[in-house]
Amino acid sequence: MIRIPFNKPYFTGKETDYIKESVASGKISGDGLFTKKCHQFFESRYGFKKALLTTSCTDALEMAALLCQIKPGDEVIAPSFTFVSTVNAFVLRGARIIFADSEAATPNIDVSAVEALITPRTKVIVPVHYAGVACDMDAILNLARKHGLLVVEDAAQAVDSFYKGKPLGSLGSMATFSFHETKNVISGEGGMFVANDAQFVNRAEIVREKGTNRSAFFRGEVDKYRWVDIGSSFLPSEIIAAFLYAQLEHLDEIQSKRRSLWNLYRRGLGDLESRGILKLPFVPDYATNNGHMFHVVCENLEQRDKLIEHLKDRGILAVFHYQSLHKSPFYEKKHDGRDLPNSDRYTDCLLRLPLYYELSTADVGTIVDSVLSFFGQRSR
Ligand SMILES: *Cc1c(COP(=O)(O)O)cnc(C)c1O
Repeated sequence: MIRIPFNKPYFTGKETDYIKESVASGKISGDGLFTKKCHQFFESRYGFKKALLTTSCTDALEMAALLCQIKPGDEVIAPSFTFVSTVNAFVLRGARIIFADSEAATPNIDVSAVEALITPRTKVIVPVHYAGVACDMDAILNLARKHGLLVVEDAAQAVDSFYKGKPLGSLGSMATFSFHETKNVISGEGGMFVANDAQFVNRAEIVREKGTNRSAFFRGEVDKYRWVDIGSSFLPSEIIAAFLYAQLEHLDEIQSKRRSLWNLYRRGLGDLESRGILKLPFVPDYATNNGHMFHVVCENLEQRDKLIEHLKDRGILAVFHYQSLHKSPFYEKKHDGRDLPNSDRYTDCLLRLPLYYELSTADVGTIVDSVLSFFGQRSR
């Protein structure tokens, strides 16, 4: 029996009140009052040029691919150790994905290997801030400037996290966020597209509204709304936005609770790392930790499977994560054959421990003790 699940969605309390409010207002389709409140929250707090709620991060990535004007044959550089949507969005537009390896120290893209992958067909680099820990953005932005490339940050896990003091999601030309129930702030399914470059703002509104200039129409900027471009329906209903806004009002409290649980893990398992038994998450000096995820890296696949079983026997659900996309059934024949050893190592060896708002200090103690006992150690 699982006593400690891997994740549990947290309700801050006001979600249903705000949903009722939106229903009472007589408007529950998209871009109403709560959607605007969410947009304002992100734009004012993080200085995003334009924030637009979407129905998922996957949709926000598909918007990004449309805005990058990807054509068949264009190349997009992305890590192999990521969620499928990071790259599927570009494949839908005909792009070829050039997979990069992860760093040895973190699952983030190894920027030192990226320049060698750039060709005249390269159009976009998609850094993924794994576990909310920033990629080396200065290096990525320098490469992008030098070669005239766009940068789309997949910041799905990176709400309220920073690179050298700058908010993640504010650094690329565009960025995408997720409010899926497994993320820090949630709306069940949900996401957000961010444009930081003025040249993408108008078209982002159009692409999100089925290729029409409906947003401009509602602002009174045009007298009819018309079909002006390609697009789709990427905006969420007010019910989703109402739920999300209730979460955003508690963002600081959610982040600080998650970070304190993360620190408890770090302290409890620190000894295993200093003895070289287990790797713990590494947060570079330029990055912050937003408490999104606590993961360990085992020695090999067999050890990780045994640790998962050991924890399950004690009622704890810990889960592995991505499977290298360059070896996926869909892409392995399309991949250029390069070995991506760090990506494969995280595929086989990375294990995520439970981390959610309502996880108790005692629960973390139980989990830490169970990990220690697996390695024949006792807590001090
Ligand atoms: C969660 C996640 C996504 C997808 O988010 P959805 O909102 O579920 O579409 C994409 N990329 C990364 C890195 C994620 O963690």
